Amino acid sequence: MKKNIIFVLVLCLYTVPVFAKINIVTTIPDFASIAKEVGGDMVSVKSLLRSNQDPHYIEPKPSFASSMNQADLFIVVGLELEIGWVPVLLTQSRNPEIQKGKAGYLEPWRGIRILDIPTGKIDRSGGDIHPDGNPHYWLDPRNGIVIAKNIADRLSKLDPGNATLYKNNVVKYEKKLKEKIAFWQRQLKGLKGKSVVTHHQSFTYFANWIGLRVVDRIEDKPGIPPSASHMIALIKHIRSLKIPLVITEHYYNPKPSEKLKKETGIAVVYLPTSATNYIALFDELVPKLKGSL
Ligand SMILES: [Zn+2]
Repeated sequence: MKKNIIFVLVLCLYTVPVFAKINIVTTIPDFASIAKEVGGDMVSVKSLLRSNQDPHYIEPKPSFASSMNQADLFIVVGLELEIGWVPVLLTQSRNPEIQKGKAGYLEPWRGIRILDIPTGKIDRSGGDIHPDGNPHYWLDPRNGIVIAKNIADRLSKLDPGNATLYKNNVVKYEKKLKEKIAFWQRQLKGLKGKSVVTHHQSFTYFANWIGLRVVDRIEDKPGIPPSASHMIALIKHIRSLKIPLVITEHYYNPKPSEKLKKETGIAVVYLPTSATNYIALFDELVPKLKGSL
């Protein structure tokens, strides 16, 4: 009898269907971090990029398309940030559910005020312009809350049975993030109104959040290394306005920043734009930036 009961129990273990998690693939690790907070145990997440990689230009690995083939939800930054490498991967993925316009494809910026929307005619000779506006929106942590809500909305659509769970997870994450935002703002209070130069447009949302003034850029044309004449003009600009700081994304060539430092004495700080933990990104950024001014 005892033997029979054990047999039935073992049989049950093997016949209970294995719970399938929602498989989420993201381009940047920050979105994987937020998706994990929202989805909890109901999701498995994977980021295609590591935190030290430039999301504009990447040599995709063959594993990227196979990861996307298995995805239920593919989350990209969008606004053409990944235009150079994601469209071809979407085709290679052979996954109809994650194509643009389908429920399995998400650009989580709905509700965010997009900055730097170009006016007038877009001309690619003017550099690798982000024609739909600045896509680096996750660098304002207040936008992290909106991103989390957009992910929760989409998960609820894909998995209505757990909608309440996703909603509750967002509420918890929003509370945690708001506390951190208040703390970071206190840390950076003294930087309000200060002028800085940035390498690319990546820190526009961040600067907007803390009240930094981005008065010039190393790139005169986005995505293209600066011309010699632009560097000369920039040196003049830095001297005349006594600009105290250059912020460079850590994946860019440090040479132009170092040249500016040598010529003008300006301080240079190299900052990450991505992390495997979204909150840890700002925990790293904030003291580094504070310490540089
Ligand atoms: Zn960019």
